[in-house]
Amino acid sequence: MKMKTEILKLLRETDGYISGQQLSRQFGVSRTAVWKVIRQLQEEGYQVGAVRNKGYRIVDSPDVMTKEEILSLMNTRWAGRNILYYDVTDSTNLRIKQAGDEGAPHGTLAVADRQTAGRGRRGRTWESPAGSSIYMSILLRPDIAPNKASMLTLVMALSVAEGIRQCIGDGGDIQIKWPNDIIINGKKLVGILTEMSSQIDYINHVTVGVGINVNMTDFPEEIAQTAASLRTECGHTVKRAPLIAAVMERLEENYDIFLETEDMSGLLERYSALLVNRDRDVRIIGAKEAYEAHAVGIDRAGELIVRRPDGTIEQINSGEVSVRGVYGYV
Ligand code: ATP
Repeated sequence: MKMKTEILKLLRETDGYISGQQLSRQFGVSRTAVWKVIRQLQEEGYQVGAVRNKGYRIVDSPDVMTKEEILSLMNTRWAGRNILYYDVTDSTNLRIKQAGDEGAPHGTLAVADRQTAGRGRRGRTWESPAGSSIYMSILLRPDIAPNKASMLTLVMALSVAEGIRQCIGDGGDIQIKWPNDIIINGKKLVGILTEMSSQIDYINHVTVGVGINVNMTDFPEEIAQTAASLRTECGHTVKRAPLIAAVMERLEENYDIFLETEDMSGLLERYSALLVNRDRDVRIIGAKEAYEAHAVGIDRAGELIVRRPDGTIEQINSGEVSVRGVYGYV
C-alpha cells in the first residue's frame, strides 16, 4: 500500500489526533514528508485538522474518488485489490478487456469518474457524466464453462443491490430487474454489462461492468422518465468510494458462493427476495418476437421462469431479451 493510502487509513481508524512525529516514525520519513501528504489530501478535498502539539485528525472526507481513497476502504482479499483509476476514459469495460488480454489478475477493477463511450447491451449507450456516478468494471477469471458466464451478471446484480442497501440503509426501495438492472422506486438506478472473451470450451476472462447513478440530478430527455439516482430518490448525496468498497465485499462473498455449485443455488433465496419481476405480468422482448407472460421467478441456472397465457412454462435465458412491465418500465 502506498504511504498516502496508509496514512488515510490510519487517520480514519484513529479517534482523535495522530502526531506528525508518530507518522514520520512509522513510515520512516521526515515530518515534512508527512506534512506534504497531508497537504495533498487537503487539496483533494479532505478536511484534515492540524493542531500544534497534537497532530492530525480527519474531520470530514467529502466524495473523493481516488485510487487511494478506494483502497483505504477496501476490506477484500481479491476483489478490487488492483485498481486502474481514470478521471476520464472511453469505457471501463474496454479498459478491463484490454487489461485481461494483457494478463492482469483476477479481481482487477477499473474505475472512472467519467466515460466518453459508456456502453449498454446491444450497442446502446450508458450516460456517463463526470463527478456524480460510479462507472466500474471488474476482471474475472472463472474456471467454469462459457455457457455459465451469463449468471455472473446476476451475481453482480445481487452484490450491487446488497452493497447499496448496506450504504444507504432503508433510504429507498432497491430491487433487481432481471437480468441486468437495479431499480429504485421503479426507476433505473444501475445497469450491468457482462462481456466475455472465450474459446468454445474455455473462458479466457469475463468483464462485468457496472454503472451506478449516485449523485446525478440531470438526466437527458430520453431517459428522464425511467432513470433515477440515489440522490434523487433518497434526498441526500452518497459518497462513491465507500459504495465501491461495499459492492466489492459483497461480490467477493457472493462469487465464492456461486463457484461452489457453479449456479445460483446458494444465492437464490437472497436474489429472489429482491427480484421485482417475481409474480408479475411482464412483456418479454426478444430478437424475433415479443409477448406477454406471467413471471414466476428465477431458477438455479439464473433463467427467468414465465407462464404463458395458454399455461405453458418457459425458461428464458438472459442473453438476448429485455423485460418490461406490461404497463411500463417495470
Ligand atoms: P433495458 O433496460 O431496456 O432492458 P438493456 O438492459 O438492454 O435495456 P442496458 O444495457 O442496461 O440496456 O442500458 C442501456 C439503456 O439504459 C439505454 O438504452 C438507455 O435507455 C438507458 N440509460 C442509459 N444511460 C442511463 C443512465 N445513466 N441511467 C439510467 N438509464 C440509462
